Order: sequence, then structure tokens, then C-alpha cells
Amino acid sequence: MSVLVFVEIDNGSIKKSSQEAITYGAEVARMTNATATVLALGAADESALAQAGNFGATKVLHASDSKLTQENNMAYADVLAQAALQEGSSVIVMAKTGLGDAVAARAAAKLKASVISGVTSLPDLNGGFKVTRSIYTGKAFASVDIRSEIKILAIRKNAIEVTESGNTATVEPFYPTLKDASFTAKVTDVEKSNAELSLSEADIIVSGGRGMKGPENWQPLIDLAKALGAATGCSKPVSDLDWRPHHEHIGQTGIKVAPNLYIACGISGAIQHLAGVNGSKCIVVINKDPEAPFFKAADYGIVGDVFEVLPRLTKAIENSK
Ligand SMILES: Cc1cc2nc3c(=O)[nH]c(=O)nc-3n(C[C@H](O)[C@H](O)[C@H](O)COP(=O)(O)OP(=O)(O)OC[C@H]3O[C@@H](n4cnc5c(N)ncnc54)[C@H](O)[C@@H]3O)c2cc1C
Repeated sequence: MSVLVFVEIDNGSIKKSSQEAITYGAEVARMTNATATVLALGAADESALAQAGNFGATKVLHASDSKLTQENNMAYADVLAQAALQEGSSVIVMAKTGLGDAVAARAAAKLKASVISGVTSLPDLNGGFKVTRSIYTGKAFASVDIRSEIKILAIRKNAIEVTESGNTATVEPFYPTLKDASFTAKVTDVEKSNAELSLSEADIIVSGGRGMKGPENWQPLIDLAKALGAATGCSKPVSDLDWRPHHEHIGQTGIKVAPNLYIACGISGAIQHLAGVNGSKCIVVINKDPEAPFFKAADYGIVGDVFEVLPRLTKAIENSK
């Protein structure tokens, strides 16, 4: 038996959220006397894939068919199901991402499996297979007892600390049967955000709202982000007003993030914004209004004018380096 971990590759390396998924899968394997096998699809260097061993996997199955280089939910789910059957995997793990959720649902239909998305805990194996998952956009947790033979778990970002062993995994080619029906829609062009750091993978995010007053005032926020090695985000009105690009829009209708540190600058903390940041480990709010709702969700709050606080914060961080 093996625990199978579906991973996503970006710029030739295993994404941080997938590293967390491998760590989770390896721990489940340890608890169930199994081994953790990784499934990687599309173009990737063997040496980068062998790094899966660093996070606890013993083997990587690499389906390198060029047709799989472009993200394709239907084909990926098909390949995942074939790998799970070959390996006899009863637990399948992946990161909870847009791709992960789409692949999990389709693979579950093929394998007659249950899908639990937003998992935040290792399973409790006392008399069953119980996991905790985050619900209501991170405001509550549900305890789920999974009864199906095959279980698919999509792990919420930052729920599991990545552990590194220094080991490498063996990489084996995997040759799935690819059905033409999975390739009926073709992505002809992909426009990637030009941000240096991906919001969904960032450890630190500095985010601005309407309190920043206009696009010409963003430099102090960008300076703080640079000092911290952070990605930049914004509230919905800010991207609607074209002050910042749409790929920075965080919230219920934008990107949902779960960094270790989220710094909100001049954002009121409307429920729709909070829905996208509830998974953050630590939230710092800078707002001149002490009654701003965001303070209720904050771990630390600074009541002050962003244009005074941001440069001082940046200077203090630079001085501390
Ligand atoms: C269906 C629906 C979906 C939505 N989805 C989203 C979403 O995904 N993401 C999202 O963000 N919003 C979303 N919204 C909008 C949301 O309801 C709020 O309107 C929005 O989040 C407010 O943005 P804001 O905090 O930047 O602006 P405001 O509400 O205008 O708040 C600005 C804040 O800045 C503070 N401020 C002003 N000047 C300063 C200063 N000099 N220094 C410090 N603080 C200052 C003010 O005190 C205030 O708290 C959605 C709304 C709806 C109806």
C-alpha cells in the first residue's frame, strides 16, 4: 500500500504547498505502515523531482508526456486515478489549490472515493479515519469521519509544517493511457502575472486598501514588502479602481491566501475581504480608525496613518537586518 501525493510543479520545482502535501502524505504513510509515492505530471527535471524525498516520499512517478505539460483537470484526474490503481493507494493527498480541488473531484468520481478539502489535521486513526477541515472560509472547523475505502485529502496551505530529511526519492517514468476525450479543450495562451512572488505561495503578504488613497501612493507599501521579501495584495475596490492589477485582489471573490504573516494597510476588514485571509497565521492591521472591523480579526493592530506607519516600519525592519 502507498499513500499517493499529487504535486504541482512551478518553474521546475515542487511548489511549497505541494511540499506541505508530501510532508502530510509521508506522515500518514508512517502512521499506516505504508510508503509515500509522489505523482508529478508534465515537464520537470529528475533532480527537482528527486527532492520529493527531502519531504518524506520514497518514490516519484513521473508522467512526462508533453501533452501533460499544460494544466488539464480532466487528463490529470485520469492519470491520478490510474496511478492510484497501480499503486493500490487508499489515501491520496494534494494541496488545496484551484487545480488540486478540480483534480480531486474528478479523480474521486473515477475511484468512487470521498474528497475532503481544506484538511487541517493529520488523521485520527482511533476506530476510523477522522480529519479536521476548515469550513465557513476558515471561521470554523468540522471533524469528518471518512468511511470510503479510498480517501482523497486536499490539505489547506500552511496547516502542516514542511519537514526536511535531506533524502532523495527514486524517480520512475509513468506511462498512463491518455484519452483524446480529455484534450478536447485547448488553452491557446496563458498570461502569467508579472509579480515576482506568487500570492498563493507567499509566506508574507503586504496588502493595501482604499485607505492608501490612490495608485500613486503605493510606494511605501511596496518598500515594506521588499524589506520583508513579501508579495503585495489589495482589496477588491482597489483592483476594481485599477489602482492595482486584478491578480492582487484578495478575498471571497479574489485569491484566498494563507501566509504566515498578512499585513493589511488601510483595509477596513469587510467580511468579504476576511473570507480570503482567515487562513493567515498572523494578521497585522494598520488603520487610522480604531473601530475598523479588521482589528477584531487581527493578532496585532497599529492605530495610525499608513503614510506615517509604513516608512517607519520599513526603516525599523531594514535597521534590524
Ligand atoms: C459580493 C461581494 C463580494 C466582495 N468580494 C470582495 C473581495 O473578494 N475582497 C474584498 O476586499 N472586498 C470584497 N468586497 C467588497 C467589500 O465588501 C468591501 O467593500 C471592501 O473590502 C472594502 O475595501 P477597503 O477596505 O479597501 O475600503 P474601505 O471600506 O473604504 O476601507 C478603507 C479603510 O482604510 C482606512 N483608512 C483610510 N485612510 C487611512 C490612512 N491614511 N491610514 C490608515 N487607514 C486609513 C479607513 O479607516 C477604512 O477602514 C465584496 C463585496 C461584495 C458585495
